[in-house]
Amino acid sequence: MTQGTDYDIAIIGAGAAGLSVAYFLSEDARVVVLEAESQPAYHSSGRSAAMYIEGYENQVVRHLTQSGKNFFFAPPAEFSDTPLVTQAGGLTVSGPAEAPKLERYLNTWQPHCPELQPISVTQARDIIPILRTTWLSAAAYDPSWHNIDVHALLQGYQRGIRQNGGEVITDFRTDNIERAGKHWHMRCADRQVSAPILINAAGAWANHIAELARIDTLPLTPLRRTAAIVPAPANCRDWPLLHTISENLYFKPESPGLMVCPQDETPSPAMDAYAHEIDIAQALDTFAQVADFDVKTVTHSWAGLRTFTPDRFPVVGFDKQNNGFFWLAGQGGFGIQTSPGLARLAADLVKHESPQDEVNIVQQISVNRF
Ligand SMILES: Cc1cc2nc3c(=O)[nH]c(=O)nc-3n(C[C@H](O)[C@H](O)[C@H](O)COP(=O)(O)OP(=O)(O)OC[C@H]3O[C@@H](n4cnc5c(N)ncnc54)[C@H](O)[C@@H]3O)c2cc1C
Repeated sequence: MTQGTDYDIAIIGAGAAGLSVAYFLSEDARVVVLEAESQPAYHSSGRSAAMYIEGYENQVVRHLTQSGKNFFFAPPAEFSDTPLVTQAGGLTVSGPAEAPKLERYLNTWQPHCPELQPISVTQARDIIPILRTTWLSAAAYDPSWHNIDVHALLQGYQRGIRQNGGEVITDFRTDNIERAGKHWHMRCADRQVSAPILINAAGAWANHIAELARIDTLPLTPLRRTAAIVPAPANCRDWPLLHTISENLYFKPESPGLMVCPQDETPSPAMDAYAHEIDIAQALDTFAQVADFDVKTVTHSWAGLRTFTPDRFPVVGFDKQNNGFFWLAGQGGFGIQTSPGLARLAADLVKHESPQDEVNIVQQISVNRF
């Protein structure tokens, strides 16, 4: 059976990357998104901490996040019935002998995040009272960190795709890719979809898709990250996200308690990731050092893959072989918050239009750097 072969653009992967770029491209192209699972966002995009943080990772990520800021804070009419972001705040804390790290953090981000300010340990404990006085040495607070309603965001992208005449086909695990003439032909068992442009938005599987298409792979490494929900004081609902300056713990309110994460980055094959006991134990151990609150049980845990390039910039653009194969990969731990900004930029590049972004960012995220 051949399934709708007359598409302009086929996108592999219905996570934040594939859905967002399909949303923008479907405004003036016939777009199809092919998803292996029976629902979109089953992998990384459905397993995130759902944060919007402008002072995060590096200056390229900051730029891409800020370029989608208006989309999050004032989305297009009818995109979502609910706000896409709600204020959370971010508390950065350091333990004994870590104050110089906090100083460097402030020097890096304060020029770009004017609301980020050092605060006293007393103020930090007013915000999160369970912080241990014996551990806490210095702190900074940024009220501009927000929670993202990931469900509303991804639903909005999908609704927009449908309204523009695009399609999202689930249960389509692309297992064969052929280039014939000017078209890419993607097959799943006896079904086939064809288009002259193929966008690789397959997250941790991006190199697998390249191999199927006989395209040189890129230095992309999926890294596992673990999260656990633990019971917490009732009043924790209003706490900001807390993270340690040494990057070995963050926690944030998440129904029915606190989401605790050891900030692990364990290389993994592309797979349906799951939480390993050792990583949960590590999270609880650090939590016990930082917070005076006895955790007796773990309510729920999960893990997801964050896929990085060596420079931790995403990789976006047509492959060097110039045959209509477009990379949209390497969104690491920032693929939700960068999705509107990065997808708009990617859509411009697919259409060979001059991106509104600076040329310099386009070069920094280009495939040609490898
Ligand atoms: C614990 C954790 C916390 C995070 N916190 C944040 C955060 O606070 N803020 C933030 O912005 N980001 C966060 N991230 C990162 C974010 O989740 C990722 O960057 C983002 O989800 C990547 O999106 P994606 O679409 O590239 O990948 P995915 O969501 O994994 O989508 C790729 C899709 O491709 C499909 N696919 C693969 N192979 C095939 C095939 N052969 N055929 C068809 N389909 C295929 C997969 O099934 C999958 O659905 C976090 C991640 C984790 C794990």
